[in-house]
Amino acid sequence: MRKKIVAGNWKMNKTPKEAAEFCKLMKEKVVSDAVEVVFCVPFVDLYPVLEELKGTGIGVGAENMHFAESGAYTGEVSVQMLKEMGVGYVILGHSERRQYFGETDEMVNQKVKKALETGIVPILCCGETLEQREAGITIEWVRIQIKCALAGVSAEDAKKVVVAYEPIWAIGTGKTATSAQAQEVCHAIRTVLAELYGRETAEEIRIQYGGSVNSKNAAELFAMEDIDGGLVGGASLKEEFVSIVHY
Ligand code: PEP
Repeated sequence: MRKKIVAGNWKMNKTPKEAAEFCKLMKEKVVSDAVEVVFCVPFVDLYPVLEELKGTGIGVGAENMHFAESGAYTGEVSVQMLKEMGVGYVILGHSERRQYFGETDEMVNQKVKKALETGIVPILCCGETLEQREAGITIEWVRIQIKCALAGVSAEDAKKVVVAYEPIWAIGTGKTATSAQAQEVCHAIRTVLAELYGRETAEEIRIQYGGSVNSKNAAELFAMEDIDGGLVGGASLKEEFVSIVHY
């Protein structure tokens, strides 16, 4: 039985002070035995969020990392830095990183391997553009993204990965995929995972849906067979996140 996982992606929102205040307000309300809850926050918010959420069981994640151990990469943050702080998760390959910062499938693959090697759970994002959906190549595209991102990752490690299916046309637009559309692609992702690692392993890997998840649509989306929770952007910045966690 896969445990549902609901992760907030704050993107570039909340200063350290605002982050601490928000976590203080939210922590008791979002604690859940049934659902793994994670706050993925900007680098500068990690310390206050980790401090505020200490002992609550709520996970803390970063929104990106570099794949190198250390070195001349001005402005970047390594996985070891995250690990030492106590960060447990990292969003990798978000479409905004791919679109605005030129992240390629190869870079995402290197980051996924590095996070796994260090014991940080990658939340691996994939998803199609509206043009790709309209051209009927959604599943083909997502299959390629998954295969590239997981190249060289063992079955044992793949079980630790959380995949987030996020159709780009649904991110921050208020246009949610229907539960049937989301299920179709999440099922296709599980199929490619089964081809790579065998059915048993694929059944253990959690697949989230992301794209305008809110308190009204979460229950229907999360009830689908291959959807094991959500990656939530806008609604994770508000008290609404509580009702998504307790969908
Ligand atoms: C996201 O940032 O990953 C996301 C899904 O955003 P939103 O929920 O705002 O669409």
